[in-house]
Amino acid sequence: MAIGDELLSGFTLDTNSHWISGRLRLLGHPVKRVSQIRDRQVEIVEAIQREIADPDLTHVFCTGGLGPTPDDRTFEALAAALGRDLVVWDEVRLKIEKRLRRMLEVGLIESAEPNGGHLRMATIPARPEAVLRNRVGSAPGVVYRLDDTFIYALPGVPAEMKAIFGEEIEPAFLAGGTAGFLREMRLSFALEGRFYHVLRELETSHPDVSVGSYPNFESKELVLRCQGADQKRVEDALGILRRAAIALGYKA
Ligand code: AMP
Ligand code: MG
Repeated sequence: MAIGDELLSGFTLDTNSHWISGRLRLLGHPVKRVSQIRDRQVEIVEAIQREIADPDLTHVFCTGGLGPTPDDRTFEALAAALGRDLVVWDEVRLKIEKRLRRMLEVGLIESAEPNGGHLRMATIPARPEAVLRNRVGSAPGVVYRLDDTFIYALPGVPAEMKAIFGEEIEPAFLAGGTAGFLREMRLSFALEGRFYHVLRELETSHPDVSVGSYPNFESKELVLRCQGADQKRVEDALGILRRAAIALGYKA
């Protein structure tokens, strides 16, 4: 779930969701859905509650809205959604104060006194499963556990989000997944409509393999992609597509 008005008004492309989806696929945790939510408290609460209530989901990722300004509302919304108080997390507050002292020393700011905005970044919903170290910036990542579901809140800044995800979340929370198998075929100047019958057949013969057809109108390539848990079945499905492509006169 990507949070931020700038995403929905078309100013900023939601690269965080794209990056997290790819990473989760490789880690063997395929994504069920991606959503983009405005910086409105009730809408964020509603979105978080919907994800928590979905029995298919075991990991829910939220990015954005953790900064120092009043439009950053993710922690407040998360506290409301989880029914928890907001508490100042001292470890984070001390880190922010240290960062401010360093900025004062090099003349970037006039006072090292934290303002309400800085304290906001250290004010998180109570009883986190873990507070995740942000090596790149000030706002921490946090993770909460509700029965068997983990809910992560990460900063919107892509470099900070990626650092926390790679260094803190992957090893501690996502290591147990098994990545599926993926095989694909690229055909030049192929028309996807001509694959209709074989794609329909594969739906019946290989329901365990997800088959996608993706025409790229710039490179004029058609990508046919098969994914699934069983390598043999994925290769088998791609073999059927390859034979169909050859029969249609394409170089496959
Ligand atoms: P925030 O954590 O909401 O204060 O976001 C800080 C900055 O991160 C924003 O100004 C955006 O430039 C960037 N950002 C936030 N969300 C995303 C996203 N989903 N994809 C890419 N960049 C983002
Ligand atoms: Mg924001």
